[in-house]
Amino acid sequence: MALTADVVVVGGGVIGCSIAYHLVRRGVKVVVVEREALGSQSTGKCAGGVRRQFSSSANVLMQQLSVRLLETLEADTGVDPEFRRIGYLFVLTSDREVDEFRRLLPMWHQFGVSDARWVEARELRELAPMVAGDDILGGTFCPSDGIASPHAVTSGYANSARALGAKILEGVAVTGVEHSGGGVQLVRTTAGDIVTSAVFNCAGAWAGEIGRMAGISVPVEPYPRNIFVTDPMPAATRDHPMTIDFGTSFYFHPEGDGLLFGMGLPDEKPSYSTEVDWTMLEAMAGVVEHRAPKLAAAGIRTAWAGLYEVTPDHQPILGPVDDLEGFWCACGFSGHGFQQAPAVGHLLAQWFTGERPDLSLEIFAHRRFATGNVEPERNVI
Ligand SMILES: Cc1cc2nc3c(=O)[nH]c(=O)nc-3n(C[C@H](O)[C@H](O)[C@H](O)COP(=O)(O)OP(=O)(O)OC[C@H]3O[C@@H](n4cnc5c(N)ncnc54)[C@H](O)[C@@H]3O)c2cc1C
Repeated sequence: MALTADVVVVGGGVIGCSIAYHLVRRGVKVVVVEREALGSQSTGKCAGGVRRQFSSSANVLMQQLSVRLLETLEADTGVDPEFRRIGYLFVLTSDREVDEFRRLLPMWHQFGVSDARWVEARELRELAPMVAGDDILGGTFCPSDGIASPHAVTSGYANSARALGAKILEGVAVTGVEHSGGGVQLVRTTAGDIVTSAVFNCAGAWAGEIGRMAGISVPVEPYPRNIFVTDPMPAATRDHPMTIDFGTSFYFHPEGDGLLFGMGLPDEKPSYSTEVDWTMLEAMAGVVEHRAPKLAAAGIRTAWAGLYEVTPDHQPILGPVDDLEGFWCACGFSGHGFQQAPAVGHLLAQWFTGERPDLSLEIFAHRRFATGNVEPERNVI
């Protein structure tokens, strides 16, 4: 007998688990299909950053909601998300960056991020004692942003979804999405077919493949990113802010008794490789020595690599697609999906069950790639 479901969620990362939880809470019959283990892919490789300092107001609003939902996650699911408000600091070194971030501050305040503020270079170095460099022109700092645990958030949503009746299949891959008469009918998996009229594509870096199974173009590409964690560093306090050197994308934050750091490169190529690229240490060396010399002197304890899931405008794709009834997207988070997961699950579950979503998701619509109604997110690293 084939399984039946109101919704099949493809992918059990933080996004799929949040959506499953918020749907099942509203009485929807959900099956989650995860090829590997829950939260083991991009979610399990992520740096855990949670911030509101985005260039697009839709992302600022989404993050305000996500932070509120993180605050109630323990009451809702019984799991502490380990949200530590160590603050988020953008270090700025060019006049263009300064103009842009000074322009964004009033927008952040307008949408409720009231404690985000401008900091001059001297104060910035006091706030973030690991930071060095006489090229710093200033920065923006939001003390109530911070870091949370991807594992805790994912398992909080997954365990509660399961307890509320969701069926979660691990080690099972989706291999096909069948449709007829313009609507989804069946999801094929390595463990058999699931009869359904709705699919949520939460397959992260593989979202394009799920799109192709349904005949829908989902423009998400995988970009490998490396994370390195240092040996214990007594100079790095546990409350050192998450720090982003915006011009280079080099970032770091406290991790255990050391620091976690990473950086993107301008000439990255799409790939599904998750082998650690140790040559990155050399590629980053000049930047790290200049911006955080104490970090540069530390030994490396461990490293891993995961995939960013990147869209052309660095915005996620959220909601139903026009060309196939019942095919919904929640993918393409372009490196900031962990922090958006609480809001995305809540808003899409509202939408799916006929409630009016608390926020407009129009700029995230799949159709924007056809209509050109695109507002790129610029504060991505
Ligand atoms: C190095 C790094 C640092 C990051 N730092 C941050 C950060 O600080 N803050 C932040 O907000 N975000 C960060 N991100 C981004 C964040 O990790 C992702 O945006 C987020 O985890 C996306 O969640 P997801 O559930 O969509 O994807 P995933 O966690 O990748 O889940 C998708 C799942 O789909 C499954 N799947 C794929 N194909 C199939 C199939 N055919 N059948 C069944 N299952 C399938 C996969 O196995 C996978 O588990 C970072 C990412 C990386 C790589």
